[in-house]
Amino acid sequence: MWRLLVVLVLLISQNQIKAQTSLSYEQARQAVLTAEEELMTGGHTYLNTQEAKVDDIFMEYKLGELAQGFRNADQNAAALHFFKGKPLIDRSNIFRFLQKMPKGAVLHLHNTASVSSKWVVDDLSYMPGLLRCTTATGRSTLSFRRTPKEHKCQSQYVLVADERRNSLDRQVYDRNFERLINLYTPVPELEYPTITKVWDRFQDMFDVLGDALAYLPAFRAYHWQMLEELYNDNVMYAEIRTSCKELYDASGRTFPRERTIREMYALNDKFVKLHPDFLGFKIIFAVYRGYEMDRLKEKVEEFRQLHELMPHFVIGFDLVGQEDNGKPLFTILPALRDLPPTARLFLHGGETNWFGASTDINLLDALLLNTTRIGHGYALAKHPILMNAVKTRQIAVEVSPISNQVLHLVWDLRNHPGAQYLALDVPVVICNDDPGYWNAKGLSYDFYYAIMSLAPNNAGLRVLKSLVWNSVKYSTLTEEEQTRAFRILELSWSRFIDKVLQGSVF
Ligand SMILES: [Zn+2]
Repeated sequence: MWRLLVVLVLLISQNQIKAQTSLSYEQARQAVLTAEEELMTGGHTYLNTQEAKVDDIFMEYKLGELAQGFRNADQNAAALHFFKGKPLIDRSNIFRFLQKMPKGAVLHLHNTASVSSKWVVDDLSYMPGLLRCTTATGRSTLSFRRTPKEHKCQSQYVLVADERRNSLDRQVYDRNFERLINLYTPVPELEYPTITKVWDRFQDMFDVLGDALAYLPAFRAYHWQMLEELYNDNVMYAEIRTSCKELYDASGRTFPRERTIREMYALNDKFVKLHPDFLGFKIIFAVYRGYEMDRLKEKVEEFRQLHELMPHFVIGFDLVGQEDNGKPLFTILPALRDLPPTARLFLHGGETNWFGASTDINLLDALLLNTTRIGHGYALAKHPILMNAVKTRQIAVEVSPISNQVLHLVWDLRNHPGAQYLALDVPVVICNDDPGYWNAKGLSYDFYYAIMSLAPNNAGLRVLKSLVWNSVKYSTLTEEEQTRAFRILELSWSRFIDKVLQGSVF
């Protein structure tokens, strides 16, 4: 049967269908549609009777929302920029479903942009001792210590608490404060007319917040909140990219990176003990790709030491920062050669709209370097040989829809290449990248775009289930951990299915 369909597709492409087959036009037409459905992600995912019923309910809501969007383009969240569509998504039944759905693991998330900006304002900004200063470029730096040289301060330091107290309106102060670490604007097309505009501000945000988060009490509170937000969004495990900054305390004492890792490990341990159905997180050491070769080599050495110390916790290495601006992988191979053989690579690759530039060719180098997964892989669709390799070698592409939209690769997410990856069953995991910096929280918003914009209209629970299962399958959990993860996932999934059928989700 399968062979027949393949032959059929070929025949259709040559417009010879009538002459070559005995099928009626309608039969041939349906056969091709079915073949495409079977080919795509989830095409062979089994649904039991209960799940099939949930799929029916889900599809009713999904088709309803799509129809509404089809009639009113300005109400079509699936096609809108996240900043414009978010209020609609927040009211959407599909979103409510996705929030309650167990989502498995998130495999591409940067720690210092992982927490919602609202929490940073409501909690972190009220921590006693938080200071703010301004750099020559007018950017704010937040910190709990005075080191003007590192902060590039031009202004005096002021206590955030004093500023807030002296402001005319505290709510206005807090709203302005939030803008320091959140790219949201009602008019992204005006505020960020180019990729450079949005990347400059985005990259700045890491510098605004970075030193405040290296303050030990803030570090602990922030990462605890990161885990809370993931857990509350029904994520069960994470692989977190982090630069492992050195921490400091109130007395000004600084601690080596080893301490940072131990702090994270301890937080992880504590959180998992409190929530036995959460499998915790592991760390991918992330280094700024713009560093000079010597600095890169130093970073590789730092990573080597941390990895040696905790090989099952500090699992791998990646390079971060705007790929279009940074050094291509090919030029930094000498630094990467010193990586320990037990370390895995999780390289960002092809996060670009360029074609045939050093940035999308990074995908080739990532594959030659035997990357475990690919971060973004946005340009992969333009490289058929590489895409084929990704599929046959089962290298998951970490697709982060909202990130790619906010950071100016695509406006209407129905045009995201992830649609092709799903259609061709390229291994995909849905990720959120830096949700705190664009007014998102958890992973559900990215799942909304995955199922409403990237997947075809008729895609329902089969695709969702495959994406969720993929996230555990393509994680670096050990075999034993993965067995346990799937056991927990099966259980929470069937509980979720029951809840939908009992009517407590919609
Ligand atoms: Zn990233």
